[in-house]
Amino acid sequence: MSMNRQGRKTQPGTPEESLGDQPTHSGNRGLLIEEPLLFELGDTQTTGVDLPDLPESAHDNETRFGDLARREPIGLAGLSEPETLRHYVRLSQKNYSIDTGIYPLGSCTMKHNPRLNENMARLPGFMDIHPLQPQSTVRGAIELMDELAHWLLELTNMKAIALSPKAGAHGELCGMMAIKAAHEHAGHDQRNIVLVPDSAHGTNPATAALVGYRVRSVPAQKDGTVTAQSVKEALGDDVAAIMLTNPNTGGVFEREIVEIAELIHEAGAFFYCDGANFNAIAGKVRPGDLGVDAMHFNLHKTFSTPHGGGGPGSGPVVLSERLAAFAPVPFLLHDGEDSRLIENAGDVGAGKLHPFGRMTAFHGQFGMFTRAMSYMMSHGADGLRQASEDAVLNANYIRASLSEHMSLAFGEDHICMHEVLFDDEFLRDTGVTTLDLAKAMIDEGFHPMTVYFPLIVHGAMLIEPTESESKASLDQFIEVMIALTRDIREGRSEVFTAAPRFTPRRRLDETGAARKPVLRWSPE
Ligand SMILES: *Cc1c(COP(=O)(O)O)cnc(C)c1O
Repeated sequence: MSMNRQGRKTQPGTPEESLGDQPTHSGNRGLLIEEPLLFELGDTQTTGVDLPDLPESAHDNETRFGDLARREPIGLAGLSEPETLRHYVRLSQKNYSIDTGIYPLGSCTMKHNPRLNENMARLPGFMDIHPLQPQSTVRGAIELMDELAHWLLELTNMKAIALSPKAGAHGELCGMMAIKAAHEHAGHDQRNIVLVPDSAHGTNPATAALVGYRVRSVPAQKDGTVTAQSVKEALGDDVAAIMLTNPNTGGVFEREIVEIAELIHEAGAFFYCDGANFNAIAGKVRPGDLGVDAMHFNLHKTFSTPHGGGGPGSGPVVLSERLAAFAPVPFLLHDGEDSRLIENAGDVGAGKLHPFGRMTAFHGQFGMFTRAMSYMMSHGADGLRQASEDAVLNANYIRASLSEHMSLAFGEDHICMHEVLFDDEFLRDTGVTTLDLAKAMIDEGFHPMTVYFPLIVHGAMLIEPTESESKASLDQFIEVMIALTRDIREGRSEVFTAAPRFTPRRRLDETGAARKPVLRWSPE
């Protein structure tokens, strides 16, 4: 180890063997600080702010509020601003995010959130507006929503759009409510079944059930796709719709999708397409051309707006000619040069439009609309197509690089779309499970891929790199995966069953957490 002139070591330190496991005095590890709950940090007797004593007259509240006046302390931890701030910043530092490293969660499209989007969303004319402002003062915002609607309709060749749903699952609900409204309008009340393939995302059957339909499962093929024949066998005059994901949750394009759409339409039903995997086909295929009647986008997947804790989701839904009349309010009604914002179902008058109601207060996640618009405009039509192509290329690069080391769910020569699916055949008799491998990836600094989904593949591992990873970052990921599989083959299973070793917490009792969740802190 070299020393600098003051005699200090200049190499990044590696813990000396003998000291490796010795606990620190503080309980912290390096600059990663142990963080208790807010309630454990502060007590309920003190407060972080000094307020003057209440004037006598304030005690009149007692009489003004009657029985509602609070008699017990509120029970919040009294912490100062710096204490509170540090608590949340320390927690955030324990979080893995797309800004820290590759996030290969299949079916989630965790791509880079461009900072240009953030700049656009913070323009005062977009950020500092309120949904109750007079329309004449928010013309630019309305125009932006109209422009976004135009691009989404253009990309899908569909007729109408509902921008307001607040996530993919909420978009599914919106699309299925439009389908239900169309059947009710036509007097087809006997249709109470929705077909869902057994490879579907859980939100599909859940949505169908929430709208009041019963689910009839359609078996998927070995390669995860659905055949026209199996749809035909499940069809009847009791079927209201099919919900199909394309590319499907195994990362495979549904080859018989046009035939399936024709069968569905002939039977008087509608075709709902789960558009969560649109990142594989944006600019390449228009779902309207395939016979789709309703499809949601996840702006937080395909169009790069932040995911989860980083920002609210947004799930606009496009509708075909057959469903357009049932689109929920609010929407912009175009009449030649003029356009009119329709905010109440009653405002359309008697005529061809029958909005089924509304999904949300106001217009949806406007901040996400600006980000998605910024993403689309900075890419252009050719750039969006290229992003899809690169997403597919990256997934196939991983597929080809790992095919000898792991077992591909659908065989060696099955080219995938934007995500690649492995099963746990390569782990057979090694003492290592899919979960163990996922935990070992955490020790290596990677967020694990999606595991045990889709359910049709044993011990599934679904890897989706997205287009925003560089070749260098893919190579690093691949190299580590190969090294891990070598460890497995050479019998070092204890490294995997003990993982994660380097995280602030080791394996959690996930079953216990799901079965007996503790959602509320209470003093002993
Ligand atoms: C992500 C996803 C959904 C749900 O979308 P949310 O925006 O998380 O509500 C539905 N279907 C599939 C296939 C998905 O990947």
